Amino acid sequence: MEVGNIFRHLLVHNEAFVKSTDETKFLAYAGSQSPYITLVTCADSRVHGNILGMDIFNKVFIVRNAGNQFAINRGSIEYSLFVLKTPVMLVLGHTDCGAVKFATHACITQSQEIINLAKSFDKLMKTDYSSLSREIKSEMLPLTIPIERGIPDLRKIQNEMKELAYLSQINVDYQIEKALKYYGGMVKENKLTIIGGVYDFVGAYSKQLGRVLITNINGVINPIDLHDKARAIIKRIPSYEESSEGYKIACQLIDEKVTRIIV
Ligand SMILES: [Zn+2]
Repeated sequence: MEVGNIFRHLLVHNEAFVKSTDETKFLAYAGSQSPYITLVTCADSRVHGNILGMDIFNKVFIVRNAGNQFAINRGSIEYSLFVLKTPVMLVLGHTDCGAVKFATHACITQSQEIINLAKSFDKLMKTDYSSLSREIKSEMLPLTIPIERGIPDLRKIQNEMKELAYLSQINVDYQIEKALKYYGGMVKENKLTIIGGVYDFVGAYSKQLGRVLITNINGVINPIDLHDKARAIIKRIPSYEESSEGYKIACQLIDEKVTRIIV
């Protein structure tokens, strides 16, 4: 799209937003915000806040960078956790992540041993990243730490789409591991719950495109423990008896969405 149309869209779409939004909603929060989720996610344009609800105004404090990295925006994250006191932090990776691809390319290029392990990245390995600026590279290179951990497992997957999803999953685990170093005390005291997930718009986890799969809760990644943890969190809803319809529906969603790519 050329710039004239992009600019026109910006004006037209914002005006449509103004007309469609009840102004009392803005006035109610004109002087303060009270979100309940700190969302740490990738800057990718295919990932958007609406996947957590059509209206996330005043609900989700969003911190974004290439590859949903904890360390890059720690100040913004801590503002949301400590000042706004959001009880949940969601670290959300996604399928087909460009930052994960970059780090995978860098890992494979650097190690002959890794080349032999990861055969299915022929197309990715032909990508030329050499013209990227130093700033772009230095922001994404820390991702080689988690990616290097995941690459030896790839030979058990043998499907590029799933392999990249698996590496995103490993990256989310790594970012949560780092966050727990600083906020593990808050997690222990039940003041903070850290949830990790992968937003799947390619069908790496299931045929349902657009799902957020929950792959990590407070550092727990073993599938059975992860399910137990998810159910325990749902049980914290005061009115949810195990026999209630709401609890059953939540458990069905947990069965579908709390899952990992296992190798
Ligand atoms: Zn990404």
